[in-house]
Amino acid sequence: QVVTRFAPSPTGYLHIGGARTALFNWLYARGRGGKFLLRVEDTDIARSTPEATAAIIEGMAWLGLDHDGEIVSQASRADRHRAVALELLDRGAAYKCFATQEEIEAFRESARAEKRSTLYQSPWRDADPVNHPDMPYVIRLKTPLEGTSVIADQVQGNVKIRNDQLDDMVLLRSDGTPVYMLAVVVDDHDMGVTHVIRGDDHLNNAARQMGIYTAMGWDVPVWAHIPLIHGPDGKKLSKRHGALGVEEYRDMGYPAAGMRNYLARLGWSHGDDEFFTDAQAQEWFGFDGMGKSPARFDFKKLANICGQHIAATEDAALLHELEAFLAVTEAAPLSEAKKSLMAEAIPSLKDRAKTFPELLDKAQFILAERPIEPDEKAAKSLDPVSIGILGELTPQLQSASWNRPELEGALNTFAEAREMKFGQLAAPLRAALAGRSATPSVFDMMLVLGREESIARIQDAAK
Ligand code: GLU
Repeated sequence: QVVTRFAPSPTGYLHIGGARTALFNWLYARGRGGKFLLRVEDTDIARSTPEATAAIIEGMAWLGLDHDGEIVSQASRADRHRAVALELLDRGAAYKCFATQEEIEAFRESARAEKRSTLYQSPWRDADPVNHPDMPYVIRLKTPLEGTSVIADQVQGNVKIRNDQLDDMVLLRSDGTPVYMLAVVVDDHDMGVTHVIRGDDHLNNAARQMGIYTAMGWDVPVWAHIPLIHGPDGKKLSKRHGALGVEEYRDMGYPAAGMRNYLARLGWSHGDDEFFTDAQAQEWFGFDGMGKSPARFDFKKLANICGQHIAATEDAALLHELEAFLAVTEAAPLSEAKKSLMAEAIPSLKDRAKTFPELLDKAQFILAERPIEPDEKAAKSLDPVSIGILGELTPQLQSASWNRPELEGALNTFAEAREMKFGQLAAPLRAALAGRSATPSVFDMMLVLGREESIARIQDAAK
């Protein structure tokens, strides 16, 4: 069974790169009936905060990346990490190094002077195992002195690292705390992780981690190190270009489904497919489609894909998401009356919005309350002549049947009889119904608002 994991360090929000890593692991597991686990790498006590953990969990929940099982806290497993270091010591794969900081510095100093490698070579590696009860020590892994380590990476290919370029890494510090590299390996092993998909900034770590797997005789997971996300300029992603926490995307009103779709396309592709559903992504996702060069984040593409997802979302679900969006932006919730108007309007609105704020903007005629206050441009359409025309129109509307063909017929006949173009009639109607000059069609608005409210608004304007 495939087991993947997301292993964020809780030192800040869930940023866009982390979200993509989580998504890739989620897609890989979900498409294969596997498990997707969450481990919080909270060993850096000084920098890890419970707020950051909460933000990551919230971000994942918003993105719809559900994980299996309990959240694993890395810090809580320190005893187990220590036990593995001691086991490596027992096996002779690690050793106690009593070198002092000064000795290590002196080694480096003379290596520099003699132009040798400055990688520390501890004299304790080959010393008889001894105990010096009063001297502090670290436990170091015995890295092979010769040969190469090969990381069979699913994205980068076979990455070779000469073992003589790796020093004997510390596993356990002199205060007995395990290092991060050991913790990752032990946790991935104990959690049964089979596939590790993560940023290629961890590729160098993989060589070191492999040393621990090998020394313990454990299976190395399948590794896929994905290129980082860059800005549209090809440089490291900046805040301006999108290096934000996912909650900022949520607050900007991008739908989660569109976000998932777009993030999946950053560093992975399936032919020319830009728009896809979760089911398709889960079915298609794999290492084949992963690229070796950094993906470029592009707000315009994100917005386009989000627009397609809004259009494709089922009406009731979309209304639900819209309400959730209002809640996070702390806007007033929709009253029951507005909600049912909104439900009616959504089919005609959802094709035209890329984000929730855009959708709300299109729905402004619903959210507005009488008396409708026209904006500057709309006010211009309410000149005395137009006001007179609106006054004449009201009795006709009172007797018209409230459905699209009848309303279209009535308004067109009315305009023709006065030798007006339809647009000349539509402009003051938009101003009266919505207080704006750019709105959905007057028929859409009148049908959603209903006879009573529509006529009341027109009468208000005609006063
Ligand atoms: N905690 C690491 C990070 O947030 C990830 C480690 C890993 O995926 O192995 O960058």
